[in-house]
Amino acid sequence: SMASPALLMRVVASAYSVAEKAATIVRNVMSAGDLGIVEKAGPNDLQTKADRLVQMSICASLARKFPKVTIIGEEELPTEDVTEDLIEDGHCEEILKKPCPAQYTGIKEEELVIWVDPLDGTKEYTEGLLDHVTVLIGIAYGGKAIAGVINQPYYNYEAGANAVLGRTIWGVLGMGAFGFQLTEAPAGKHIIVTTRSHSNALVNECITALNPDHVIRVGGAGNKIIQLIEGKASAYVFASPGCKKWDTCAPEAILHAVGGKITDIRGNSFQYNKEVKHMNSAGVLATLRNYDYYACRIPNTVKESLVP
Ligand code: AMP
Ligand code: MG
Ligand code: MG
Repeated sequence: SMASPALLMRVVASAYSVAEKAATIVRNVMSAGDLGIVEKAGPNDLQTKADRLVQMSICASLARKFPKVTIIGEEELPTEDVTEDLIEDGHCEEILKKPCPAQYTGIKEEELVIWVDPLDGTKEYTEGLLDHVTVLIGIAYGGKAIAGVINQPYYNYEAGANAVLGRTIWGVLGMGAFGFQLTEAPAGKHIIVTTRSHSNALVNECITALNPDHVIRVGGAGNKIIQLIEGKASAYVFASPGCKKWDTCAPEAILHAVGGKITDIRGNSFQYNKEVKHMNSAGVLATLRNYDYYACRIPNTVKESLVP
């Protein structure tokens, strides 16, 4: 008989279903019409009812199945009992059937850290830019992002009533990434994707120095990694603090699973052990291909302005 699936595959299979439940909550809160917006650090750092409910749903659902895993979510919430309707106990059967990469078969629960961004692109969600929104569940082991799930609840929302709304992208290092069509950006063109709502002088100075053919300004770290793996942009460049470990963990795992690279603006890789500082203080530089082209053109003045 078959051995029971490795813990990592069981966590990814559950995270897939938990992220789909999260997407339903994101859509339901929007269609109910009361977003319950709260300002955190300021008007560009928002939390909605969807951020709160989704975090409760994801964290409680995964904690129930994997009680020894460390789960770190973006939102600070009162530790009230989560209502049963928020719990998802399903999993994706197709993921469970796939063999776990050999280097991860022995992982134990207490060795995993799950980074949860319940709703990435909240500012855009409140402004109706719905396809910028993603739900991010990143899985780290030994300080490295090794697996991730990105759900895009409003994928296809402008494609008409017959189009299937929403999708789930997932990936594991050493296995690949699924749920989308891997596409490279047009050769010889330099298309940069960056923040829409958190720009500043340094962010713009850095982009100008790279002399891009085109700049795409959209919300969400998850959304920007999707732009890279679907060939819409050649580099994600964000020369500013603001992005956190829950923003980059799932995207990093998926990008690395298909041969891409993400670091801070100075070229340092991110660490995801549970003790790590949450803020990615030295910004983000990510590409699917040609990382070095961009990395070696970031001005030293920009690098020196960002302290890791
Ligand atoms: P953006 O590209 O602006 O959508 O940012 C990607 C992620 O980093 C989102 O989760 C943002 O909320 C977060 N982020 C980036 N810059 C800031 C900032 N200045 N303040 C708060 N959050 C930020
Ligand atoms: Mg976020
Ligand atoms: Mg968020």
